[in-house]
Amino acid sequence: MPFESPFPKIDIPEVDVLTWLFGSPDAPLSHDPIYLDSVNPEDKHISLHEFRSWARRVSGGIKTKLQLKPQDKLLVFSSNNIYFPVLLMGIVGSECVFTGANPTFTARELAYQINDAHAKVLFVAPDAVPTALEAAKTTGFDTRKIFVFDDNVKNPNRAAWAKYPIGGYWTDIALERDEDFRWRRLGGKDVHTTVAINYSSGTTGMPKGVEITHWNFVANATQSLAMDDPVVGYEPVNLSAIPMYHAYGMAAFVMLAPKQGVKVYVMPKFDFVEYLKCIEKYKVTSIAAVPPIVVAFAKHPAVDKTDLSSVRSIGCGAAPLSAETAIAAEAKFNNVRILQGYGLSEVTCAVIAQRENKLNINPKRGTVGHIAPNCQAKLVDGEGKELGRNVPGELWVRGPNVMKGYYNKPEATADTITPDGWLKTGDVAYVDDEGLWYIVDRKKELIKTSGYQVAPAELEAVLLEHPDVADAGVIGIKWADNERPRAYIVRNAGSKVTSEDIKKYMSKVCSSYKQLTGGIVWVDEIPKNPSGKILRKVLRERAAKEVKDT
Ligand code: AMP
Repeated sequence: MPFESPFPKIDIPEVDVLTWLFGSPDAPLSHDPIYLDSVNPEDKHISLHEFRSWARRVSGGIKTKLQLKPQDKLLVFSSNNIYFPVLLMGIVGSECVFTGANPTFTARELAYQINDAHAKVLFVAPDAVPTALEAAKTTGFDTRKIFVFDDNVKNPNRAAWAKYPIGGYWTDIALERDEDFRWRRLGGKDVHTTVAINYSSGTTGMPKGVEITHWNFVANATQSLAMDDPVVGYEPVNLSAIPMYHAYGMAAFVMLAPKQGVKVYVMPKFDFVEYLKCIEKYKVTSIAAVPPIVVAFAKHPAVDKTDLSSVRSIGCGAAPLSAETAIAAEAKFNNVRILQGYGLSEVTCAVIAQRENKLNINPKRGTVGHIAPNCQAKLVDGEGKELGRNVPGELWVRGPNVMKGYYNKPEATADTITPDGWLKTGDVAYVDDEGLWYIVDRKKELIKTSGYQVAPAELEAVLLEHPDVADAGVIGIKWADNERPRAYIVRNAGSKVTSEDIKKYMSKVCSSYKQLTGGIVWVDEIPKNPSGKILRKVLRERAAKEVKDT
């Protein structure tokens, strides 16, 4: 029997994302600033009213000026700014599909996503335009379909990018007036239309496009709201450091914060000392963290010089967090308990969350909490047999927030979602007698560095393109509440290639978080099974010994 959520069943509205978020195209909305630039909040801010107005203008412009078809994919390649939610909802309102790329991607990485998602238009941060042009060259992408995207809407620096052969500035696409566009209110089966393609490598292989629908977004946000404790006695203030192109940032800052009318200070670039300054200056109450941020709270010397007394709640997700780190970080705050959440791109954002107050349960260390409402979970062993409580197994989940599938990859979808709707997470977990869940390991090959996904298959493919590399196997090693990619490499016969050569090569083709910071080990052979699959377990065991030995 599957494990059920302890939360009461909830009604999930059958509507499109924009209707859920804004009500209707013209119902009155607040004019108070909701997104504020953390560097220049006086000049750069937008209200919920402006958010919707801009989104309508962008949707209308995409429809009329770009002449795209419903379900065409538009790729946003930018770090966070106060207009990021506008662009996302503008794309959704136009009935096209949003896909966001990590703004630190190299041209090679961006080219992969342009091709895989069949992107028709790119919105690119000014400093990333050269990378986008390079990616356009290798993919044959029409550079006139590239638009610069930043937050200087009153005064765009056209001179700086006029030299590039691109389409223009993103607001050139927007309609003059919002009243010229009303999004289509959806219901019934139309809510199962894809609105976003978020990238994840899933349990194996290269990054894949996770298709998230209107229904998925609305369901997961409604589930989160149903689990939340009501905020009493203070006005919540958020600080966004988590990227909004990722499931976590999208849920927290594009869906939940505006729905609740919560102010978000948007950091264009993450820097921990700057982050601390913002918490103090803006009296931030609610923190959405990943384990490396919690580690920094525990250890960074600047923390003790910062007034953190405004902080009332801290959530942490995206990767494992040890109890010791959580306790050390909590000591820096006034009576704040770090609550973990567990999820994956394939379930929109979260599926298990720690909300002990609502359930009146004593918080326990190490747990990621309870199953979200309207979701079920089960634990499965290697033979597909269902397991009971207190026994670790692969976690499978089912619910309205489970993705539609991997874009254009029916086989990977069939391998991940069973015909009766169970999503195989690839994570190893157990549940205790109180229904609290613990994530103990990862069965899938995925590596997570600083909350970002690194697909070993991708790094292996990159290494194999090096002329001196005969074979390669990549795994992750644990490193202080984080992981690092480590490569085992076989040289080509006669080659004298060194680790330094490989590092130099990797730094040119891969983003900084994908570098082989866990080490490079030269070997004669990569362990494989008879069908040629890398035996990662063998490499992991070897690494555990080597890293302990050093
Ligand atoms: P992503 O799709 O990028 O959100 O990555 C999802 C993966 O991150 C999960 O499948 C887990 O392996 C890992 N993960 C997310 N949250 C947690 C958590 N609270 N504890 C341990 N691992 C986590």
